[in-house]
Amino acid sequence: MDKSTKLLPLIPLRGMNIFPYMVLHFDVGREKSILALEDAMLNNQEIFLGSQKVSKIEEPEEKDIYNIGTICNVKQILKLPGDAIRVLVEGMKRGKILEYKEKEPFVRVEVEIIEDELYEDNKECKAYIRSIDKAFEEYINLSVNNFPDALFSLEETEEPGRYCDMVSSYLILKPETKQELLETVEVIKRLEKLLFILKNEVEVLKIEKKIGTKVKGRIDKIQKEYYLREQMKAIQEELGEDDEDKREIAEYENKIKKAKLPKEAKEKAIYELNRLKSSGNYSSESGVTKAYLDWILALPFNKVTKDTIDINKAREVFKAEHYGLEDVKERIIEYLAVKKISNTLKGPILCLVGPPGVGKTSIAKSVANALNRNFVRMSLGGVKDEAEIRGHRKTYVGAIPGRIIYAMKQAGYRNPLFLLDEIDKMSSDSKGDPADALLEVLDSEQNATFRDHYLELDFDLSKVLFITTANKLDTIPRPLLDRMEVIEVSGYTSEEKFHIAKNHIIPKMLKEHNMDDDKITFSDSSVNCIIENYTRESGVRNLERKIASIIRKAITETVEKGKENVNVTTSHVKRYLGPVLYTYDKADEEDGVGVVTGLAWTEVGGVILPVEVSAMDGTGKLQLTGQLGDVMKESAKAGYSYVRANAAKYNIDKDFYKNKDIHIHVPEGAVPKDGPSAGVTMITAMVSALTNKKVRHNVAMTGEITLTGRVLPIGGLKEKSLAAYRAGIDTIIIPKNNEKDIQKIPNGIKNKLKFIIASKVEHVLENALIGEIYNGDKTI
Ligand code: ADP
Repeated sequence: MDKSTKLLPLIPLRGMNIFPYMVLHFDVGREKSILALEDAMLNNQEIFLGSQKVSKIEEPEEKDIYNIGTICNVKQILKLPGDAIRVLVEGMKRGKILEYKEKEPFVRVEVEIIEDELYEDNKECKAYIRSIDKAFEEYINLSVNNFPDALFSLEETEEPGRYCDMVSSYLILKPETKQELLETVEVIKRLEKLLFILKNEVEVLKIEKKIGTKVKGRIDKIQKEYYLREQMKAIQEELGEDDEDKREIAEYENKIKKAKLPKEAKEKAIYELNRLKSSGNYSSESGVTKAYLDWILALPFNKVTKDTIDINKAREVFKAEHYGLEDVKERIIEYLAVKKISNTLKGPILCLVGPPGVGKTSIAKSVANALNRNFVRMSLGGVKDEAEIRGHRKTYVGAIPGRIIYAMKQAGYRNPLFLLDEIDKMSSDSKGDPADALLEVLDSEQNATFRDHYLELDFDLSKVLFITTANKLDTIPRPLLDRMEVIEVSGYTSEEKFHIAKNHIIPKMLKEHNMDDDKITFSDSSVNCIIENYTRESGVRNLERKIASIIRKAITETVEKGKENVNVTTSHVKRYLGPVLYTYDKADEEDGVGVVTGLAWTEVGGVILPVEVSAMDGTGKLQLTGQLGDVMKESAKAGYSYVRANAAKYNIDKDFYKNKDIHIHVPEGAVPKDGPSAGVTMITAMVSALTNKKVRHNVAMTGEITLTGRVLPIGGLKEKSLAAYRAGIDTIIIPKNNEKDIQKIPNGIKNKLKFIIASKVEHVLENALIGEIYNGDKTI
């Protein structure tokens, strides 16, 4: 046998290759291979390893095994359970199978030993090696695998062939590629091929990494959160907080069970609870979920109070809590009586309309007391977005339910008395009209299944007793107004205010300040002084404030000066509240030409409206000055036309519209006023000025006119009468159609005034002007 050949047992390798100088361990199971191994162990421990071309072939033949393989040294064998053996081998040299010498019981081949050429100082080799070094380093850095000591052991290697084989053995390549390297016997070619393969691999790894970072970026975030959450769980467990979580969830579970929720709400609550369980207590959603559950659990889905509609009791409550307001009380009693017999709350919604502070809210509270219902109030002033009524969807950050649901939570029961305050102050913007949502709330056909956007559950509002309040009717959306029954609550006279102050406000305020009734008392004149000089309003809200302020000051005085009690007198009032804020305008005390006292109704009650007219030589101009609104300007023009048309009748120069200038002036008062009730006043003043007849100073008047001289009705007679009385007037001329309103005026004032009923302007002029007004024949 030639020196460079050897006879060696063969083990075919499946799916792997071995290079010279490489250490490899693999398991041997096939019988032929085990026998080959045993033979090797008996003879020098040398064996030839050649790779199978197709790894799945069980009994490979010559053609199935690559010719070039590696002569190896068996370093270690280890018997594994069963028949398999684990072998550790070290590659020695390349070998080429020349011939299959034996095939049974194992394969023995004649192998030609292939030695690497030796290169000393070959520049090409060095260049290759240097490039491979660089590329390999890059490969290591990019690769996910670890190559412990790879670079280090390479440094020690000087022979190019060996160097090349070592690098090849580290690379993770397809078996065919590795076989190619093994079969490249010529060292320079092998280096070249290796460099090519290596660079290629580096490129592929770079691309992989790029894709990897992108994908990883996404996955990382999820993983990071997952890890953090897991860590947090672990920390919580350590701290015992996990128990806290479980306790909280158990608490929710318990509450949901006990809460007697309707089916839909219960299902939703359980669904949310399950989400809470899976998301963990510290996730971002858990806060939202808990808030939602808290809402469901806090709402009175099924809690009701028992109504007691007892008309007599209601009467008593109303009487005890409010002075006057007889109409309103009576109307509410009727409303309750109907409800009692029909046993339902369907029907119109009551709407209390009147100026601020007249007791709209507090009478609604009394209704709640009388019915034994809880009271909730929600102000609609400034509401302009539907979401305020109906809530924001849960998907919005920081979403909460709408105000209706919020108020129902406050009420604690499903059937409270629900006061919708200031329904006339609602507006709408681009985000939906709140009036639409409110319509649904108030509609007894629909409100049993009111759905809030946040809650996404039906909530039954059909048992709620809604009452609304407004200052005026004209800004209430029409469809809403149609659904309501309006009850007017008018302003109070000074006398009524006096009673309210004495019997209600003072005792109430003393109680609020924890004062006994006998410690601070108010003289009658002090109360009148506060009403007349320190407040100007239709209601009693400011009065209440002033009284509270006086009580505080009186308390301070008792404390400072060690007094037992204080009886508040007018001088106390002036001392406590400072200089007088208001005085009422007084009417003129003498009869005058062209000066007439009209009456107007303003938001703070009735006021006198003096009108002055002067007629002078000129060219027929009509001049209007002072504080006139549009409506009053029109009254002035209509009055002017009436006077022109009827000039002859009143003995007025028929050409006055050509040769006289008329100037109408309405002096500006403290409160702005406008309205269609100054017509008669204007005409009277004009006729007086043009005829030079005096107007009675003790007469005031109110009424609108038509061009033909009819007197039309006006509003607010009660307030106007009061203003007239305060101004020192004793006679008022009112439109015929307002005659019926006289009975509504409190006796104290009614008895002190004389009412003259006028259906035509003539009646007004006859009673206001002094002397004969007609030009002989009344019928002209
Ligand atoms: P509104 O709702 O009409 O603006 P409130 O109901 O808030 O007015 O009334 C203001 C205050 O005046 C409340 O403290 C109320 O009790 C009191 N008040 C108003 N009218 C009367 C009345 N007729 N009798 C007793 N107190 C009254």
